[in-house]
Amino acid sequence: MNGLMNGKRGLIMGVANNHSIAWGIAKTLAAQGAELAFTYQGEALGKRVKPLAAELDSDFLLPCDVEDIATVDAAIAAIKERWGKLDFIVHAIGFSDKSELKGLYADTTRENFSRTMVISCFSFTEIARRAADLMSAGGTMLTLTYGGSVRVMPNYNVMGVAKAALEASVRYLAADYGVRGIRVNAISAGPIRTLAGAGISDARAMLSWQQKNSPLRRTVTIDDVGSSALYLLSDLSRGVTGEIHYVDSGYNITSMPTLDTLRI
Ligand code: NAD
Repeated sequence: MNGLMNGKRGLIMGVANNHSIAWGIAKTLAAQGAELAFTYQGEALGKRVKPLAAELDSDFLLPCDVEDIATVDAAIAAIKERWGKLDFIVHAIGFSDKSELKGLYADTTRENFSRTMVISCFSFTEIARRAADLMSAGGTMLTLTYGGSVRVMPNYNVMGVAKAALEASVRYLAADYGVRGIRVNAISAGPIRTLAGAGISDARAMLSWQQKNSPLRRTVTIDDVGSSALYLLSDLSRGVTGEIHYVDSGYNITSMPTLDTLRI
């Protein structure tokens, strides 16, 4: 199927490099005809994002640090000026202090709890509100979450709590904006080797566990996530909103390690 995103313009937030989940999504959308704008966090990452955007024929790059709401406003204003509208947004942004992505959740500090929540959860609501104003003809919004929101994963800690709140936000935003023809969904991806993923202690063990114990016996790739994102951001999923869609090789349905693993 070709051209599913022809004539659609969207904002991709969260490309840090060519391993980023947002990059896997951007490539898939561009291949289907989408026109893309990219935000980047700080000039150092901007230097990496610029050539990647150029690969997808985009020169529309916007600095944006979600901790500084003025930069979010400026990015949305620039889109309004150049495009006048938005058809979709992809929010693939998450952060927590690495020193708290290990050990006990109970030791989370107030400062890092607040910062993790603002960057990894509330930023989606703040961006959604602004983007919705540019979606007068309807649109779609997508964020990224992880199964540590609903089940305890070692070391994921405060990020699991932030992702639980993010998933609840997806449902509330979907209810808020449904009457305006705007759909809001999330992909819950299995572990993938990325910059953010590497911040979680013992990330390598999580990847290996997933590979051995998921029904498909493999980890997922950014291209796997890209294909599912295409479904959620295109008209293929026109009847779907408020959904948390798992792209995790089926790991979320399991309740115990595979017998193969237990016999080892
Ligand atoms: P990544 O490091 O490539 O991307 C994370 C992005 O968040 C970066 O582009 C970074 O610049 C951005 N970011 C962090 N703080 C920001 C801020 N203050 N303002 C603006 N941008 C900021 O890693 P990724 O794994 O592609 O992460 C993308 C999303 O996917 C995150 O929400 C992450 O939690 C989620 N996710 C990742 C995995 C995984 O295993 N890698 C699994 C499930 C969900």
